[in-house]
Amino acid sequence: MTKISSKRIATLRRELASRGLDAQLVTHPPDWYYLTGFTGEAGALVVGKKGCALITDGRFTTQAKDETRGVRIVQHKAGLYASVGEFLKQTGTRRVGFDAGQLTVAQWEGLRKGAGARTVLKPANGVVLGLRTRKDPQELAQMRRAAILASEVVEHAIRLLKPGVRELEVAAEIEYQMRRLGASGPAFETIVAFGERAALPHARPTAKRLRKNELVVLDLGAILGHYCSDITRTIYVGTAPKPVKEWYKAVLEAQTAAIAAVRSGATCGEVDAAARTTLAGYKLDQYFVHSTGHGLGLEVHEDPRVARGQKTRLKPGTVITIEPGVYMPGVGGIRIEDDVAVHENRSEILTRAPRDFMEL
Ligand code: ZN
Ligand code: ZN
Repeated sequence: MTKISSKRIATLRRELASRGLDAQLVTHPPDWYYLTGFTGEAGALVVGKKGCALITDGRFTTQAKDETRGVRIVQHKAGLYASVGEFLKQTGTRRVGFDAGQLTVAQWEGLRKGAGARTVLKPANGVVLGLRTRKDPQELAQMRRAAILASEVVEHAIRLLKPGVRELEVAAEIEYQMRRLGASGPAFETIVAFGERAALPHARPTAKRLRKNELVVLDLGAILGHYCSDITRTIYVGTAPKPVKEWYKAVLEAQTAAIAAVRSGATCGEVDAAARTTLAGYKLDQYFVHSTGHGLGLEVHEDPRVARGQKTRLKPGTVITIEPGVYMPGVGGIRIEDDVAVHENRSEILTRAPRDFMEL
């Protein structure tokens, strides 16, 4: 086991002890990657008081042996969850935590049947995800690189915004550039939205061509060394009318206020409120139809949620996005998004692209 994964497993074991559990069943691939380095898509990891076992099928056993240290690799032949249950029974593991949000009813039934009557299965949700919200220095260094890569790609994409270009062409170029710069791929489906399509927060790129005097929303993220980045910029092609300039100013001010509210100990709800009250000052809060941000790491959307009323407190090592927006149906939308890391006494903006209003 590598130094990093044994430290993470030790932290998980302390958490299990405090919950009175003998083992945790880890069934979410980013969670088992975090704990062991295994990048396969199928399997289940059992982290016990002493040992760790990864139950997987023949497609992944060689890979699992190569990628992990100190983890027992068990190849299952029958169904995965029935085999995991059998394994728990055979090893006399009695009180086992599992993530109820990550198992289907059929998987749970297989597990239950295999484990027999003497094994107690206890929902223990988000245990590994909770550990993942506190990134260590190596993870933060990787996220910095992923954020800089996305910032470079967004600046490159802005240069392609000429009337006549299609949303799909720009999206394809964005994903090509990401890979050229070393990313393993996009962290999510790239959003390129022109004109009134920019009023849809999750617009899929289409064959629509860019016209003069339109807003453009570019929202993209790259996966670099397993870690995700996520950045949005909004540009105006042409000379923007006064209301568009005012909306942009309000969104930028809301984003700046929310970033300023990011500090260790602040609740996610307070950060969200900073953006929302700024927009309310411009009577634009009704057009801000989503939450202010989300946690970022091995997954593009992970804990914590930076949303209205969220009581979760920010901790050093947490990385979140701050992405307020306003959406005017039939007209267009404006969103500005950056990735922010929380440190002990300060916060750090990981993304680098300029945020000033841009007219091309
Ligand atoms: Zn985004
Ligand atoms: Zn985002």
